[in-house]
Amino acid sequence: MLDYLALDDDYTAEERQVRDAARRFVDREVAPDVGDWFEDGRFPERLVGEMGDLDFYAPTLSWGDLPGLSETAYGLLMRELEAGDSAVRSMASVQGALVMWPIAEYGSDAQRERWLPGLASGDLVGCFGLTEPEHGSDPASMETRAESVGDGDGYRLFGTKTWITNAPIADVALVWAKLDSGTDGEADDGDGPVRGFLVETDADGVETPEIGGKLSMRASSTGQVVLDDVRVPEDAVLPGVEGMKGPLSCLTQARYGIAWGAVGAARDCFEVAREYATDRDQFGGPIGRFQLQQEKLAEMATQITTAQLLADRLAELKERGELRPQQVSMAKRNNVRTARDVARTAREMLGANGITTDYSPMRHAANMETVYTYEGTHDIHTLILGEDLTGISAFE
Ligand SMILES: Cc1cc2nc3c(=O)[nH]c(=O)nc-3n(C[C@H](O)[C@H](O)[C@H](O)COP(=O)(O)OP(=O)(O)OC[C@H]3O[C@@H](n4cnc5c(N)ncnc54)[C@H](O)[C@@H]3O)c2cc1C
Repeated sequence: MLDYLALDDDYTAEERQVRDAARRFVDREVAPDVGDWFEDGRFPERLVGEMGDLDFYAPTLSWGDLPGLSETAYGLLMRELEAGDSAVRSMASVQGALVMWPIAEYGSDAQRERWLPGLASGDLVGCFGLTEPEHGSDPASMETRAESVGDGDGYRLFGTKTWITNAPIADVALVWAKLDSGTDGEADDGDGPVRGFLVETDADGVETPEIGGKLSMRASSTGQVVLDDVRVPEDAVLPGVEGMKGPLSCLTQARYGIAWGAVGAARDCFEVAREYATDRDQFGGPIGRFQLQQEKLAEMATQITTAQLLADRLAELKERGELRPQQVSMAKRNNVRTARDVARTAREMLGANGITTDYSPMRHAANMETVYTYEGTHDIHTLILGEDLTGISAFE
């Protein structure tokens, strides 16, 4: 497999073990059927427990039996899962980085005891509700409200979250809502702080309908979380964080995984195209002997290697506690764009065969449209970098 600068040689034995375990899992459990899942538009729920058994959810945490792996090991896991399909990596990312991580970081001891073991094993599924129908790139404008019932009797939640990975199969939704001083269930003008609420999806007033008609990330379950006067207890709120720092810090964790995952999707496309170029004969020999095809392979290999270098450096900085969100934005932005470009080029090299689910590049290309959009669109990461580089915000 492509590792042009022998970067894998520098990983520890434990990191290579994690990489190999994830590769075996993808080879055995994902690759044979993922084309069918994509065509059928369904996420195979059996994978949830299998990934739990393999410690694929939040393995960097040291809580309980979680293994406390290095940031590089986590990145390698994301890379190998996304080489299988972005839907599989998304499942692990959401569960680990967007649900378990905030519970571990901002939750109470009781919340950790209540949720982390089941989420780690895959007996429970979590989802992360930030985006709303009218508020995507600008989540601070969210309309979802939490009214305090008073006297420590908990909260009433109102609002709709949309485009939520795992929502239709989730047991618990981490819902970000603004605290509201109103008492009549109507959203008022109050602009209280954003808080995270752990909402059980079987509670009265919660619905999690599936979103159909997706042409991207088809093997992932995506839905809404509709909250119609949902009563949650006082201890449903994450005590350790207030304001947009809550959801944004979770997104930094998940985007780190995406920066690595995109390398895996791109590498898989490259490998398929390289093999095809040496097998497929036209004009009396393999198409890989044409300079036009070699140029494509050379460019893909260079871009993938560059993306991997960025991911490796992020891991080093994260391990030292020095990683800034803007650096993660640079890597998410670059690596996903690389994967999107590589997937399209690989698809092109496969000719007509490239448009089928028999080969991975078009599936990856379709998935990359989502990955390019979620966790901050490419444009939004451009603006984050622009602000960081100039000190001037161009968001509004
Ligand atoms: C399959 C899938 C799974 C998802 N999973 C989750 C999930 O689990 N949880 C969750 O909370 N969300 C999830 N999302 C939602 C995702 O994060 C949002 O789609 C994303 O933030 C963009 O929001 P939007 O779609 O409303 O686009 P908009 O914000 O409406 O943007 C539309 C276009 O305008 C551009 N734009 C917006 N603002 C600016 C600006 N200031 N300057 C220049 N251009 C701008 C954008 O780049 C984009 O091209 C998911 C999305 C998909 C497709």
